[in-house]
Amino acid sequence: MSPNETPHRIISAETVVTSPGRNFVTLRITTADGVTGLGDATLNGRELAVDSYLRDHLVPLLIGRDASRIEDTWQYLYRGAYWRRGPVTMAAIAAVDTALWDIKAKVAGMPLYQLLGGASRTGALAYGHASGRDIPELLDSIRAHLAAGYRAIRVQTGIPGLDSVYGVAASAAGDGERYDYEPARRTALPVEESWDTRAYLRHLPNVFEAVRHEFGPELPLLHDGHHRMTPIQAAKLGKALEPYDLFWLEDATPGEDQAALRLIRQHTTTPLAIGEVFNTAHDYTTLLGERLIDYVRSAVTHTGGVTAMKKLLDLAALYGAKSGIHGPTDISPVGMAAALHLDLAIHNFGIQEYMRHDPRTLEVFRTSYTFDDGLLHPGENPGLGVELDDEAAARFPYEPAYLPVNRLLDGTVHDW
Ligand SMILES: [Mg+2]
Repeated sequence: MSPNETPHRIISAETVVTSPGRNFVTLRITTADGVTGLGDATLNGRELAVDSYLRDHLVPLLIGRDASRIEDTWQYLYRGAYWRRGPVTMAAIAAVDTALWDIKAKVAGMPLYQLLGGASRTGALAYGHASGRDIPELLDSIRAHLAAGYRAIRVQTGIPGLDSVYGVAASAAGDGERYDYEPARRTALPVEESWDTRAYLRHLPNVFEAVRHEFGPELPLLHDGHHRMTPIQAAKLGKALEPYDLFWLEDATPGEDQAALRLIRQHTTTPLAIGEVFNTAHDYTTLLGERLIDYVRSAVTHTGGVTAMKKLLDLAALYGAKSGIHGPTDISPVGMAAALHLDLAIHNFGIQEYMRHDPRTLEVFRTSYTFDDGLLHPGENPGLGVELDDEAAARFPYEPAYLPVNRLLDGTVHDW
């Protein structure tokens, strides 16, 4: 059968760029038999580059293709470009791939997780982001998260002497929950923050001491170092935090230096997670092959979609590593849904990051996933289970926004 005869021939593909509280790039693919699929292509702070990559370079290649040929399309876009990898390319391919899986599952009349092998668990353990400018505020935030049903908590705090720190909300939301942390600001130039690693290393063990004292030994606690330490600093921190039994220490050092994790691993039994800025399985070959990490942090949205993420997670399973799929609010509800279908289906699930989207975002993206008693579930609707409301999307036009730039106290640019 030629592509022109298949009922699942792609007849249109278009991007929707919308900013319901923050910017999102979504690809919608439509087949000749009227089935639509969605894919998330959001790259925080570089959204229009992915939009252009899709509109100018991928959409023309998709028209007329058989939507059912997912693996072939992935290889065609990845190998066919000659230029490989990189966040813009891989986010664009991810959007196409995810949209094609959405279509295939809708055609099958099944939620996507069924096509990935069916459920391996009843739900995906989620962790929320608690933060406070100081320890009392942090403890309040953890209480609010527990009251909201979270069973695992990421802990971030302000550092004495620093004005603003990654992961710490500027003010509490009305109900006392601190879901309002949004690092990308709608400014013409990136906001600049300052950083002092030695002050951070001195302060953090006291923070975890206070949290364990208040909440006891059972609650899973996570922490994100946001790529700011040298390997020996990270080794020192991992060792200092061992008495507090972290679920993981995330992004201790800049991720592209895979060998740096060897030194950290030699010195601490604190579990390590990394990978949210990676975009292929090749970024993990040393990390997994030498068993230097415990959790894979990639996002479906930035790693080539469901096809590539499944392969990466299967590779991780061979080396005893589990998933910890990236899920901040710059992953759209489409990207989050894709993650949840994988979380439910794979065997080596670890934990799922979860920040509730802004109510404006949920007006644009109608979701069917649920959060109940600490567990996320993708729902039973055919496909991903997310629909995009074009009229709502049009009410929130794109606004330029950037993640902050970070400088040491002497002005040197540092990892943010
Ligand atoms: Mg992180």
